[in-house]
Amino acid sequence: MTETPHQDTPRELVIVGSGVAGLSAAVYAARADLEPLVLEGPEPGGQLTLTTEVENYLGFPDGIGGMELIQRGKQQAERFGAEFAHGEVDRADLKGRPFTLELATGDVIHTKALIVATGASARWVGAENESELMGYGLSTCATCDGAFHRGDDVLVIGGGDSAMEEALFLTKFADSVTVVHRRDELRASDIMARRARENPDISFRWNTELLEIHGSTETGVTGATLVSHPDGHPTAKDDGVSAEEVDVGGIFYGVGHIPNTDFLADTGVDRDETGYIVTLEGMTTETAVEGVFAAGDVMDPDYRQAITAAGTGSMAALDAEAWLDEQPESAVEPEPETASPQL
Ligand code: NAP
Repeated sequence: MTETPHQDTPRELVIVGSGVAGLSAAVYAARADLEPLVLEGPEPGGQLTLTTEVENYLGFPDGIGGMELIQRGKQQAERFGAEFAHGEVDRADLKGRPFTLELATGDVIHTKALIVATGASARWVGAENESELMGYGLSTCATCDGAFHRGDDVLVIGGGDSAMEEALFLTKFADSVTVVHRRDELRASDIMARRARENPDISFRWNTELLEIHGSTETGVTGATLVSHPDGHPTAKDDGVSAEEVDVGGIFYGVGHIPNTDFLADTGVDRDETGYIVTLEGMTTETAVEGVFAAGDVMDPDYRQAITAAGTGSMAALDAEAWLDEQPESAVEPEPETASPQL
């Protein structure tokens, strides 16, 4: 890890984000001699660092720790010459060439091509002890961690499609799955809601929220305090709230994800109404701005798997390499006044 490196000339390629997608892009780009700079944001390593064991990433028959997978990916990228630096991008100017990235520190970086792999952060609910127990029986990903809960009673928090999907998946392993929703009506699509309602292993706690999670890093999650109010949203109420303690072996948050794309406002990169980057039609990682590519969860609201993020990361590097090859040198020369930015 280095401080933001001093820069006299624009980089060939900057990769924003250091989760699986960013690392996979870095391996491919570094092997193509693009000497990529990987900016590690506020959650270095991305969502995998929040999970304990990864059992469904190809090539690890005995599973691998999420953190270890990330560390290995970083070593692999560094071996080929990728450079890593801390840097949260506050603002991007993608209208001029080269592109300009302004970091939260005030540093400025210029780059000819850009891969956005900033991921999507799982929303947390704000229950007591959630930071301590995340990865120890509390999870934001049933596909990643569901298999650790064979025979457990588990809670799923949320009432949207993600929560229904998590609940349905968890019935393969858990003894019982209880969906805890803060209102008395699901937000999920009719088909997902019907599947969940018709599954005999799933029950619902309406007008209920998770107040506190019990357990420790030694025991894992052992229980929870739930609060209810007949009008819903109990944690926002003063009167008429009832509390109950339940014994559970796992808790899954399914309250949505927030793609990390705020810095792309007004850049010309298309985003959907929930903030996910929209790539061009067909099998490509190209965005609406030429020379800007997107990979991983930041452009994928549907699959959201480590292996798919790695796949789109490699695609983005190949797309960026091909695009750079096509550019005449003059197209990406820096403006005279920004030729030697002081970092
Ligand atoms: P979502 O639709 O925004 O639903 C989030 C759910 O979590 C809502 O029920 C919300 O409650 C609840 N929630 C939010 N913050 C909470 C908090 N602090 N405490 C307690 N509950 C909280 O998110 P999503 O389910 O991830 O879906 C996002 C998009 O992806 C949707 O368009 C969805 O259709 C799509 N998706 C589709 C599939 C599929 O079709 N297979 C699977 C996953 C996602 P309220 O209802 O009260 O707001």
